Amino acid sequence: MSNAFDKRKQELNQFSEALDKLNIRKKETTITPKALPDDVTKCPKCNTLIFSDEMQKNLFICPKCNHHFRITPKNRLDALMDKYEVIFDDIAEKYTDFPDYKEKLSKAVEDTNEDESITCAVGYIDGIKVLVGVMNSFFMMGSMGSVCGEKVTRMAEKAYKENLPLVIFTCSGGARMQEGIISLMQMAKTSAAFAKLNEKGLYIAVITDPTTGGVSASFASLADITLAEPGALFGFAGKRVIESTIKEVLPKEFQTAEFNLEKGFIDKIVSRKDMKKTLSLILSLHGYKHE
Ligand SMILES: [Zn+2]
Repeated sequence: MSNAFDKRKQELNQFSEALDKLNIRKKETTITPKALPDDVTKCPKCNTLIFSDEMQKNLFICPKCNHHFRITPKNRLDALMDKYEVIFDDIAEKYTDFPDYKEKLSKAVEDTNEDESITCAVGYIDGIKVLVGVMNSFFMMGSMGSVCGEKVTRMAEKAYKENLPLVIFTCSGGARMQEGIISLMQMAKTSAAFAKLNEKGLYIAVITDPTTGGVSASFASLADITLAEPGALFGFAGKRVIESTIKEVLPKEFQTAEFNLEKGFIDKIVSRKDMKKTLSLILSLHGYKHE
């Protein structure tokens, strides 16, 4: 009896070692992303290994657990719009005195091939003319400084003047601390522009992961219709900061899109795969015509 047990244990150990060698068991936490080949990404939620071309085809959504990966503005606009032109990409930074800020900005520009933490475009969704802004988590964590604030404000003003619907995909760590009070002023500046647009325009915010700080406390929360991608974090201060302030443990799902939907803070959770048809439907229901 004891021999049979030992034999079985030995077999299981061999099986376990074989699984480890093949890297196909769930317990892959020992593999760091750096150890993976360049064209493979590991889903942080379910540990599935996904090849780049599959990722691209699936709009950067995990095929197994529906985790929505963060996405660049270019990939987002390509997936969403029939055709588009990038606008407002020529605004120069003015407030760059903070130590190392210039260098950080140059590196972000080089790494992302974008000029700032938001990319603005005018173009068409299903033949409907629309303005679309996409914030970029890969550009200094989507932080809002004076140029980002100026671009968002110009989008709201253009939407007002030209009677165009406006969609902004928000994603931000908050105000850009290197610009100090100037970055905080962008909250008031963008909010004033959206108050004006509110008189007659249609503004749709799409909350993507993560939308926090000064952006969530200004234009991300001022839309006529607020959509969100599944699982997107949406809140002002971080969960741990709030817990240590109010001395209470918050629920696990606190600040997720699903939690915000339940509390009435957002209107609908929309998968990236359904985003184009959902936006097209909302725009046509509001009288915007297909050209
Ligand atoms: Zn997954």
